[in-house]
Amino acid sequence: MTVPAAVIDSLADIVGREALRHAADLRSRDPGIHPDNFGGDLMVRPAETGELSRVLACCHAARVAVVPQGGRTGLAGGAVSRPGQVIVSLDRMNRIEALDPVSRTVQVGAGVTLAALAAQAAEHGLSPGIDLGARDSATIGGMISTNAGGASAFRHGTMRDRVLGLEVVLADGAVLSELGLVRKRNEGLQVERIFAGAEGTLGVIARATLSLVPADGPAATAMVGLRDLAAGVALADTLLRNRSLTLTALELMSANHAATVCRSCALKGFDELLATPYLLLVAGSAASSAAAEAALVAELEAAASLELILDAVVAQNEAQRAAMWRMREDWAVDREYPGGIWFDVSVPLAQLPGYLHSASARLKGHPAGLSVFVIGHLGDGNVHLTVNAAQPVTDRYEEIAELVTADLAAYGGSFSAEHGIGLEKRATLQRLVSPVKLALMRRLKDALDPLGIMNPGKVLPD
Ligand SMILES: Cc1cc2nc3c(=O)[nH]c(=O)nc-3n(C[C@H](O)[C@H](O)[C@H](O)COP(=O)(O)OP(=O)(O)OC[C@H]3O[C@@H](n4cnc5c(N)ncnc54)[C@H](O)[C@@H]3O)c2cc1C
Repeated sequence: MTVPAAVIDSLADIVGREALRHAADLRSRDPGIHPDNFGGDLMVRPAETGELSRVLACCHAARVAVVPQGGRTGLAGGAVSRPGQVIVSLDRMNRIEALDPVSRTVQVGAGVTLAALAAQAAEHGLSPGIDLGARDSATIGGMISTNAGGASAFRHGTMRDRVLGLEVVLADGAVLSELGLVRKRNEGLQVERIFAGAEGTLGVIARATLSLVPADGPAATAMVGLRDLAAGVALADTLLRNRSLTLTALELMSANHAATVCRSCALKGFDELLATPYLLLVAGSAASSAAAEAALVAELEAAASLELILDAVVAQNEAQRAAMWRMREDWAVDREYPGGIWFDVSVPLAQLPGYLHSASARLKGHPAGLSVFVIGHLGDGNVHLTVNAAQPVTDRYEEIAELVTADLAAYGGSFSAEHGIGLEKRATLQRLVSPVKLALMRRLKDALDPLGIMNPGKVLPD
């Protein structure tokens, strides 16, 4: 199946031939995280909402499917495209249009990257209030569409919570412009909210207004070795209540993850930490670096006296701080053990040790000899489990997913914390979500996209 030549000509008339990319061109480019992101045979790159609207109207009239793409860093396959589909890239809609430092709001094109927004906000002593490892490529439109979380979500919520308003182009090209700049706006249903977390299945986000937060003050960073996960939860609880340290990061990793990164990236100086079962990257800010370090060290000494932590290293310079973050964010596990599967679950913090203990026991009992690597954002009970074995296990996704999710609901958890459903978790969604919710999702999809052209086959079955 291919995009009809007449449609290609119409799209060229709308955006200009130079703003189209054809299959051969796409195949020579980096597709991002999923190898099939560039499976479609045409990419259209509109420059502004008007062009985007005409692109969608054209595809709608010709019943050609549309796959929106931002930075292609999504981890659930939501940006995968197939022959006959048109990729709509937001990369040219990348202008930071207005930043109001007093109201702490910003209006951006959907293609602005998180890093670009963070840099601009920093010039005014502000921050987007959200951060994640893919910051250099992930776009605001993609982050809203996946309702991204990241390392700061325990403080400022997920991307949906950062949004004040949206401009969205609907499947037929109609433009819903609700670019509010205020935090309080009760004007009937906030219909634009439905597009946050919709993964491009209901419309294309063109622009957004976001709420900014004051930038953090000078910080101190430490890597601690936990006695066990329960000790990590107790330490998190204490740190979250501390009044002299604003906790800015609480990033968890299992020792096998940390050891793999240290080996792969030649990170030195963490040997004693690697002998503990879990490591926790703790960062906090205060009025000065000295005050932050003093408050952090006092907390860690108290934790050590309670035997919650077995070892700790406080970063003494930028290189040490960067090494600690690398230990958390590097993807050495996926490089060194390809053929594994990622899971993205969240559990109420107090229940996390019980859930992880029980899920690990189920996984380790599997005959394939599964290994489990854990990283996560401890502050909000969100952990990513990478499950692999000597042989690739990618074709055993559903069977392993059942082990991961077996008692999640009993612990009050979610099978999809922050990466969305995309292609990967569609079966799990059908298995674990109530029929009433599924039927409502289907009715909304049919109402907004009756021809089914918006990112078909993602989230819900075709
Ligand atoms: C190293 C690394 C670290 C990461 N860390 C985190 C993390 O800590 N927390 C977290 O939540 N995620 C994390 N992610 C996942 C990823 O960064 C997020 O899913 C991000 O929000 C996707 O943004 P994107 O612009 O790359 O979107 P894409 O990957 O291009 O698209 C993702 C989905 O959104 C849709 N979409 C994209 N743009 C639009 C638009 N304008 N309108 C409508 N739909 C659109 C696509 O169709 C697709 O379904 C990480 C990824 C990597 C590679």
